[in-house]
Amino acid sequence: MTDRQGHSASSIESEQANDEIRNPDHTSGNIHRLSQRAKQTPPSGIRRFFELADEMDDIVSLGVGEPDFSAPWAARSAAIDALERGKTSYTANRGRSDLRANISEHVKQYDLEYDPDEEILVTAGASEAVDLAMRALVDPGETVAVPKPSYISYAPSVTFAGGEVRSVPTRAETDFTLTYEDLTAANASEASALVLCYPNNPTGAVMTRDELRDVATFAREHDLFVLSDEIYSALRYDDEHVSIATLPEMRERTLVFNGFSKAYAMTGMRLGYALGPQEVIDAMNRIHQYTMLSAPTTAQAAAMEAINSCEPAVEKMRQAFDRRRQFVISRFNELGMDCFEAKGAFYVFPKCPPGWEDDEEFAEALIHEERVALVPGRVFGDGGEGHLRVSYASGMDDLKTALTRIESFLESYPTSASL
Ligand code: PMP
Repeated sequence: MTDRQGHSASSIESEQANDEIRNPDHTSGNIHRLSQRAKQTPPSGIRRFFELADEMDDIVSLGVGEPDFSAPWAARSAAIDALERGKTSYTANRGRSDLRANISEHVKQYDLEYDPDEEILVTAGASEAVDLAMRALVDPGETVAVPKPSYISYAPSVTFAGGEVRSVPTRAETDFTLTYEDLTAANASEASALVLCYPNNPTGAVMTRDELRDVATFAREHDLFVLSDEIYSALRYDDEHVSIATLPEMRERTLVFNGFSKAYAMTGMRLGYALGPQEVIDAMNRIHQYTMLSAPTTAQAAAMEAINSCEPAVEKMRQAFDRRRQFVISRFNELGMDCFEAKGAFYVFPKCPPGWEDDEEFAEALIHEERVALVPGRVFGDGGEGHLRVSYASGMDDLKTALTRIESFLESYPTSASL
């Protein structure tokens, strides 16, 4: 794509990117009192694509990271009921004790055993739990190893806590699982903590018990604390989810994050939780009691009911996601966009088609020419380049339309040079 002066969109952006590296100020510069931290926080690369998509009619967006379903009715109804009964006050800082008891029972399905009073903190989404964990565990200047490509919030939360990010690229050859070799190659042994996220956003990759064992060995050998984001644990399509916290000697060096956003389609209710050793949960709660006080009360009522009665609804959504997953994987492979079999979450991570190497260029051209929004893989960090994140948390009709449009795009523009 070129502007009137003949500059291609990607060349303009790479000039902008170079400017940003020299002068990473993401504000207009009018307000001089903004902190360096605020100024240096870049806008999310995903948002930019949402904004482009919002401006267009008849767009099919496979860019979103949230279920297209509403929360199960019983959970919504419990929230309404709580409001009708006037339950609008704060709860205990750690969250309702009956909800913590419920969570403690619920996670036993993954062989996780946590004391509801001492080892569980209910938070405003898993996002708050990640942020609190960084602030509770990372001292300024300490390094946190963050595998890439990965969910976009980890690196900023390390930086907000004053820490340094050590990127650990994962590889397409190993289907984006995290290997002992990846950790060694990135000198992750110099870090004090390691983020882990399986099932993964953005790749949909999962890790088996054996694969996790190698990561656990590395963590024990180099004394790394593991921050394991397991928010997609209920969205597995081949096998049971395994938590690294259940491997030998890992419980005491692991925090597990989970929540209600993905499995129960409750993103907007903002409810998550952290499970971990008492000392760490206490430290997180000391910060949480000042910054959040307590997680949303109405959402806690919904979450109680979600755990009590919504498993059949979760299973229905999981099956719908699985049908869509199989459809998109086979269509991308038919179109020559190599797509490994992602077995978790609701994302697949196909390669750009041959003839198109630059994921950002491909995504920009596709949105403008065919009104299909995908997210360029590079937004998620090293190792993501040349790939696209495709969310299948959209109805089957939209997925079919998107794939038909991508097919006609590839017929019109078999290579980037043909654009
Ligand atoms: N972790 C991952 C891997 C995610 O994909 C997301 C949401 N996109 C979150 C955490 C945030 O979850 P929550 O809504 O519970 O804050």
